Amino acid sequence: MKKFSWKINHISTNTNARTGEIITPHGKIKTPAFIFCATKAALKSFSTIQAKENNTQIILSNTYHLMLQPGSELIAKHGGLHNFMNWKGPMLTDSGGFQIFSLGHGSVADEIKGRSSVKRNKSLLSINEEGSLFQSYIDGSFKLLSPEKSIEVQRDIGADLILVFDECTPFHVDKSYTDISMKRSHRWAIRSLNRFNLNLKYKAGFGSSGEQKLYGIIQGGIYEDLREESIDFNLNKIDNFGIAIGGSLGSSKDEMYKVVNYTALKLGNKHPIHLLGIGDPNDIWTLVKSGIDTFDCVSPTRLARHGSALIKGKKGKLNIKNKLFSEDLLPIDKDCNCPTCLNYSLAYLHHLFKADELLGLQLITSHNIYFMNNLMNIIRNAIDNDNLEQAEKQWFS
Ligand SMILES: [Zn+2]
Repeated sequence: MKKFSWKINHISTNTNARTGEIITPHGKIKTPAFIFCATKAALKSFSTIQAKENNTQIILSNTYHLMLQPGSELIAKHGGLHNFMNWKGPMLTDSGGFQIFSLGHGSVADEIKGRSSVKRNKSLLSINEEGSLFQSYIDGSFKLLSPEKSIEVQRDIGADLILVFDECTPFHVDKSYTDISMKRSHRWAIRSLNRFNLNLKYKAGFGSSGEQKLYGIIQGGIYEDLREESIDFNLNKIDNFGIAIGGSLGSSKDEMYKVVNYTALKLGNKHPIHLLGIGDPNDIWTLVKSGIDTFDCVSPTRLARHGSALIKGKKGKLNIKNKLFSEDLLPIDKDCNCPTCLNYSLAYLHHLFKADELLGLQLITSHNIYFMNNLMNIIRNAIDNDNLEQAEKQWFS
């Protein structure tokens, strides 16, 4: 049996939605799938054992944060991040490029969605052909993150799926900068691939946990001609297992849907397609129809920490801290089979938040993780049964 493979099982008759399977040495990912962010090797208030119990298929971690703390060498000594954090399933790492962007230009989420161009404290010192020079937020030391360094760190970490090093361009830059940055990211992708294939510390294409596969990243911002150039580069000039859609996706939901749709259509069926940093359930229902296979976002666990539980319907979430729930004996969702909904009332969860009890964060995180995995399961079944549109209507009714 192949250690890695990708296949499409079914393509919807009315849309480009598809179900498939990504096989990795650490198990199978049924797609479309949601990838949970364990940025610093932790799902915040939730263990990997609990994540598995809540049907989680795959998690991701962050190259930039882990290289600064605890350092990738310590992770490699454990035989990779799988052992370090006791996650036996599939894993992805980003390349650190996303953080270059967030350090240099402001809030990542705001920028990707075109909401802001607010400058933040700049620990990014420069981006040039060599890579990105920045100051560590841990000890103030100067660090260079280059394509080669990013791949070396990702080989130490040992995730199954790893990303080429890129600059994630913000919304507020013009077409000329987006073009320059895209071409540089393409050169960085070639350098990433060359280092990936080199037999240095580990066997070529292997990380500390074993064999790995590389994802390329489509750049080009909101400009269709640049996206096409990046698609051509990734499909025809470089050999990657998977392809991620990165960069700015515009200033509105409609623009994001448009950019993702024409990009995914042109990418076709040869590779699994990952959409970087998007994970709102409303967006997922729309974007699976363009053929997106995997999504990632910090939102399910971040919302939980702020007291928001995800629910079906247009509203999308409940604010557990709302006084409305102070005497509500029902669970978050009476149809949900997560450990939180099976065992605890809204009034109890409300009390935990009012009393600043950390258990509240854990219980809502548990529900939100289960909720996202259940959502993806419903979507996969609906695609296989060719009733995605009815399932979507039912979800929002
Ligand atoms: Zn639940």
